[in-house]
Amino acid sequence: MTNATPDYQAILQQVAQQVQPLSHRGKVADYIPALAEQSLGQFAIALHTADGQTFSAGHCANRFTIQSVSKVMTLTLALQRYGDELWQRVGKEPSGTAFNSLTQLEFENGIPRNPFINAGAIVTCDALFSRLSAPIHTMLESYRSHTANPKVGINKVVAQSEYDHRYRNAAMAYLMKSFGNFDNQVEEVLWSYFNFCAIELNVCELAQAFSYLSTGGICQQSGQRVLSARQTQQLNSLLFTSGLYDAAGDFAYRVGMPGKSGVSGTIIAVAPERFTVAVWSPGLDKVGNSVAGIAALELLAEKLGTALF
Ligand code: GLN
Repeated sequence: MTNATPDYQAILQQVAQQVQPLSHRGKVADYIPALAEQSLGQFAIALHTADGQTFSAGHCANRFTIQSVSKVMTLTLALQRYGDELWQRVGKEPSGTAFNSLTQLEFENGIPRNPFINAGAIVTCDALFSRLSAPIHTMLESYRSHTANPKVGINKVVAQSEYDHRYRNAAMAYLMKSFGNFDNQVEEVLWSYFNFCAIELNVCELAQAFSYLSTGGICQQSGQRVLSARQTQQLNSLLFTSGLYDAAGDFAYRVGMPGKSGVSGTIIAVAPERFTVAVWSPGLDKVGNSVAGIAALELLAEKLGTALF
């Protein structure tokens, strides 16, 4: 690696051009009607550097719901309020199962494997719920300050549709409640969880929202400390081992960076001390990760030498 700053703009354009054909592959999420309407053939990428510059290529103006990438902010807000005490409620181990799997909960006394599978994110929401008077408002304000865009909002059609089809997520929450690992009203916590998933951003805002992961915990836009340097390093370690569900190993092998994906076809990845990158392309592979998104991050890591090992 040289010390010269890479030409990020040119590299993103090359990546976008190379992976654009892959954006027609895969299947859009169809578990709720609002997501099934997304069309294939779209791709966007944005990179936000640790010194505060944003570069982007592809369909960058498009807004999309961030889905499971929201689990990173949920965990962040919970760590701010609980520190290591949070780990009494949720584990830190890779699950090796689908993001919406129920089976481990039964065998592991209602303690989800990690905060990035649905059960883990829902119990983290429950913990947050206990310490916030208006969780949805607080969550929105975090994204607004991190992106310096006071207009960031929630796609209410998606949130409602998720809630109307909540059976599986509700089953997880009630199972955790039966084990005593749930403190608040299940339906209220689920409503917050779905609203967090339905926060709508474009790819540049998404990279900015998670810039603190590449700066040792400081938000680029607001200048505020979000997490301590140690907590940020720990969060990146968890993203590396568990951010892509049962494809975490494949992602580590191909991309080699901490990352988090969502079923809208978005993924964030972190090059510590260098940048946070966000991609979006709705065509998903069998485990629910963006086909073109993973290919783009693999290419980017190769071009920039950002794989950790
Ligand atoms: N809203 C989705 C769900 O709860 C999030 C899942 C995901 O992005 N993997 O099922």
